[in-house]
Amino acid sequence: MSDPRPARSRLTVLAGPTAVGKGTVAAAVRADHPDVWISVSVTTRPPRAGEIHGRHYYFVSEQEFDRLVAENELLEWAVVHKAFRYGTPRRPVEQALAEGRPALLEIDLQGARQVRRTMPDALFVFLKPPSWEELVRRLVGRGTESEEERGRRLETAQDELAAEAEFDVTVVNTEVHAACEELVALMENQPPRTEV
Ligand code: 5GP
Repeated sequence: MSDPRPARSRLTVLAGPTAVGKGTVAAAVRADHPDVWISVSVTTRPPRAGEIHGRHYYFVSEQEFDRLVAENELLEWAVVHKAFRYGTPRRPVEQALAEGRPALLEIDLQGARQVRRTMPDALFVFLKPPSWEELVRRLVGRGTESEEERGRRLETAQDELAAEAEFDVTVVNTEVHAACEELVALMENQPPRTEV
């Protein structure tokens, strides 16, 4: 059966507080649902051990990021956790949507708000932790941040949790595979948001 939905209704934006597991849920979608196209962001953050350029991120210099902004090559971008810049390359998203593929952006709240302005037809999904205690446990448990950085991220997380009401739907990330399946079901059943 042909799908009557306009291609642009297929963009889904996944956002939520730090350490809620956005990256882990996106990785589960990548592994279990190869039909879903997932954006690879550019960032000025240096790679962590095991991260691969072009797969986890495109790691770029400040100058290169400036160029991408100046040439309007980014769909959205933000300084995240008062540290590094992150952005979504525009063209691959447009290409995936033109091909009719379900497309997923895993970005921070500031980025989600920008996309809300430029692509209001997208589906905005808020990923939420089962509790505040669990969020702190996950942040400490992953051990990728210094104590100072952890404090900074938890401060941001409190504001980020309050943003849930801005989203179309909430998924509680109690268990990664359940959250992944819930997200993909939402993407697949996404109703048309614009009559054409
Ligand atoms: P990390 O440095 O831990 O990989 O990511 C830090 C934060 O940056 C996460 O909250 C992640 O969602 C966000 N992020 C990753 N890529 C992008 C992007 O392209 N745009 C925006 N606005 N945020 C991003």
